[in-house]
Amino acid sequence: MKIAVCVKYVPEANAPKRIDPETKRLDRSVDGALNPFDVHAVEEALRIKETSGDGEVVLVSLGTERTLEALRRALAMGADRSVLVADDAAAGSDLVATSRVLSRALEREQPDLVLFGQQASDSDGAVLWAAVADLLHMPLVSQAAELALTDGRARAKRQTEFGYDVIEAPLPAVIAVSDAINEPRYPSLKGIMGAKRKPQETVSLTDLGLDGEDAGEAGSLTEVYALLDPPARGDSLKIEDTGDAAEQIVEFLADRRLL
Ligand SMILES: Cc1cc2nc3c(=O)[nH]c(=O)nc-3n(C[C@H](O)[C@H](O)[C@H](O)COP(=O)(O)OP(=O)(O)OC[C@H]3O[C@@H](n4cnc5c(N)ncnc54)[C@H](O)[C@@H]3O)c2cc1C
Repeated sequence: MKIAVCVKYVPEANAPKRIDPETKRLDRSVDGALNPFDVHAVEEALRIKETSGDGEVVLVSLGTERTLEALRRALAMGADRSVLVADDAAAGSDLVATSRVLSRALEREQPDLVLFGQQASDSDGAVLWAAVADLLHMPLVSQAAELALTDGRARAKRQTEFGYDVIEAPLPAVIAVSDAINEPRYPSLKGIMGAKRKPQETVSLTDLGLDGEDAGEAGSLTEVYALLDPPARGDSLKIEDTGDAAEQIVEFLADRRLL
């Protein structure tokens, strides 16, 4: 079985987040890492491969060359190879353009199963997998907290507010796993050393039969017109803690007869 796992390179959790006023996009020049939600998708793919005894786990990503660092971490966990779509013309791709590029890269791979994480930790859309499944004409199950594959079908337990839905879909299918599905492994030293020798392919939009009109700002349906600070909250007081913050808060509440 061939399993493709879509992974994203995101700013590290503790990196300062800032929108570049020039491009009106997230400043991605800060330190980055593999999207933590995607590590669960990589782990699930490795478990499926290990249980079945054969198969291939291919990582697929759209990003800059810096994404290669994040891909190496997933290769060190045990994935077999990676395909990175890196192209200057893809900068500024919104959801629609991103889904177009990823689905084309996935079509080229012809996987039996496509796994995603539940969301990206930088833009938190939790929707890209739906757009990709639509373009690939594949069934989709999201928020999968358990996944079993038998007789060419995927059976997933989908986490809901009130319990679980059990959903079956024929393969090939797109499954977005929740972060409750497993406890990801740490890469071993052997895995880290071995990752350096694993194939890492970088392709352009042209290699995928796409051009600048399909991706980047030209291929996007979203346009950011302006960035504005949120409106002031009116009757609010900002308390800086110089050692007497608790007293100031009590006084503020007492003045308004809230204590
Ligand atoms: C106007 C505009 C400009 C943008 N410009 C850029 C830009 O220049 N660079 C940029 O990186 N983003 C850019 N974005 C954000 C980009 O569109 C989103 O990253 C993309 O739509 C995915 O949405 P998300 O990150 O919310 O992912 P979600 O829907 O939250 O992600 C779900 C899952 O999809 C997978 N995934 C997400 N993104 C990728 C990816 N790129 N490759 C492989 N798998 C992925 C992961 O498995 C993730 O867990 C821009 C968005 C807008 C609206």
